[in-house]
Amino acid sequence: MTQKISSSVPSVDVSRKVDARKTSETVQKLHTQFRSYGRNTREWMRKCVLMLPAIERERVWEKKDFGSLAEYAARLSGMSKEMVYEGLRVLRAVEGMSDIMRVIEERGIGIVRPILTLLTMENQAFWAEKMRVMSKQTLALYRQEWEREHEARSVMILDSASLHVRTLDINFRPGSEEIAYFPQGKAMEISDTIESSGELLPEKIFKITLRPEVIQQLEKLNGKDGDWNNLMEEFLALRVQKLEQEKPEEKVTESRHIPTSIQRFVIARSRGVCEVGTCAKKYEIWHHTQRFAAEQTHDPDRIIALCTQHERLVHLGLIEDEYIKPREWKIVDEPDKNDKKYLVDRLVQKYRSPR
Ligand SMILES: [Zn+2]
Repeated sequence: MTQKISSSVPSVDVSRKVDARKTSETVQKLHTQFRSYGRNTREWMRKCVLMLPAIERERVWEKKDFGSLAEYAARLSGMSKEMVYEGLRVLRAVEGMSDIMRVIEERGIGIVRPILTLLTMENQAFWAEKMRVMSKQTLALYRQEWEREHEARSVMILDSASLHVRTLDINFRPGSEEIAYFPQGKAMEISDTIESSGELLPEKIFKITLRPEVIQQLEKLNGKDGDWNNLMEEFLALRVQKLEQEKPEEKVTESRHIPTSIQRFVIARSRGVCEVGTCAKKYEIWHHTQRFAAEQTHDPDRIIALCTQHERLVHLGLIEDEYIKPREWKIVDEPDKNDKKYLVDRLVQKYRSPR
């Protein structure tokens, strides 16, 4: 932006300025009012949904001469048919789970959907606590990683049982090692792989489409009986080496602004993708693993690119050890409530809504 288009200064139109201010005041007022009514509407709708099982049980709709429950709900509250059936389905599934019900009363039935299929009377308190502090998306991600984590533990149990598939309980108690969550189908799958390869870690087939000249070079590099793992690991190591050479110095500063050189480095390292495990989401947040509030440093090794949901899990204290490489991060069932970082994060969390 070097070129100036005009050098003449326009005269200030005072009346137009006043008009503009009035307009923005009106916009703000309308917006605030609408938002508040909207919020109330949602709250009342939530209350209506929660009443559905009782209305159905007592057949209130029939006694009041309506054709069906859906019609009753639609005419009296504007609820759609889908909302009625979905509401009933969810509420039936969580019947008797008082902890889950309490969260639903506060946040609506939508929040329970990501974990509905794994809720039991035994684990409902554990999941209710997670629902209370997470958004729907974060909860969905946590469930995914939680299942992966518990599956990994089950594989270890299998290993110690000299690789024989045992029938394991599908019951789950958080924090308990003896009882593992283990879908049976998965067990057979893993056991098959173990038997066929003689190793615990299964190998995966990875398909990529490449240009013929690239394939030619790769095949040549890999040699006649070369192991592709070795070649690929060599490439990966070279990449780490190259990044290491380009790594900018860490910067101690009061300013929260991350120096551009460090930003560029983190983007190159992460390729703009969340750096946790196999997460393929676009990064949205620069995360200081030491917390900038605790130590005013921008250290390229301690700034990682995260998607919103993984950043939420970190701040909820649900990552076991933040200082190891994020691709090796593990989630935990409960945060360490005496951890200093956890306490700082709690304070910050107070000013945020679950997301
Ligand atoms: Zn992520």
